[in-house]
Amino acid sequence: MLRYCSLFSGSSGNCTYVGSAEGGILLDVGVSAKRIETALKDRDIDPATIRAVFVTHEHTDHVAGLQVLCKRYGWPLLASEGTLDALCEAGRLDGCRRVYMMEEGQQITVAGLQVTTFATPHDSRACFGYCVEGDGRRLAVATDMGYLPDEVREAIAGCQLVHIESNHDPDMLRSGPYPYYLQQRILGQGGHLSNAACAQVLPGLVEAGTTRIVLAHLSAHNNTPDLAKHCAVDALARAGVCVGRDCLLTVAEPAGTQPVTYF
Ligand SMILES: [Zn+2]
Ligand SMILES: [Zn+2]
Repeated sequence: MLRYCSLFSGSSGNCTYVGSAEGGILLDVGVSAKRIETALKDRDIDPATIRAVFVTHEHTDHVAGLQVLCKRYGWPLLASEGTLDALCEAGRLDGCRRVYMMEEGQQITVAGLQVTTFATPHDSRACFGYCVEGDGRRLAVATDMGYLPDEVREAIAGCQLVHIESNHDPDMLRSGPYPYYLQQRILGQGGHLSNAACAQVLPGLVEAGTTRIVLAHLSAHNNTPDLAKHCAVDALARAGVCVGRDCLLTVAEPAGTQPVTYF
């Protein structure tokens, strides 16, 4: 059995917990250390049982709490070379004693969890997504993607749980408050995955064995949970997949109030 919890999700900060019988890991730590500590405590997760932090990329919404947490708890940090370089240049690794580079496609085992990286298309140095496997169960965290390449689709296929970006509704984005250059950045190949682009891949994932879909990294300004959910449910229904019968679908909340999921 694996334990999964989206502690924080969205443009205001991301942090996902995955646990096994032996301990756990955090994928991204994009809000303050204090908020992450509180979120862990609320779920009876002892920080001493966290064995490592895996970071997807250097943007603040993924690393805001990194330095304080790694210094405070001595957690090892793992990320791509590009991400580590960017963090180092920004002085965000000062005081982090255990820092390890991972290659694309590399697998390492921590706390009985096999963690494998895959590359994601985003306007950072070298963005990773992660697959985590333990006890015969597998999940994927795939966010911050301008589009969804076949390589990512293949990497996450077969995971029972997929935590996948459904960032924005393009019409809301175009008519929303963001300046033009930012709209273009989000819509571009190195930006963020739209509801429709996310929804398009979901039927194939269910066919390959996914039973839990978590729509994640929603934009606070250019999306709503209802819109993201509708888009996904519609695409699944058109492919003959019934949510509730064939799979479960939830939306990750910004400041996760979700309990830990066991699956
Ligand atoms: Zn980013
Ligand atoms: Zn992000």
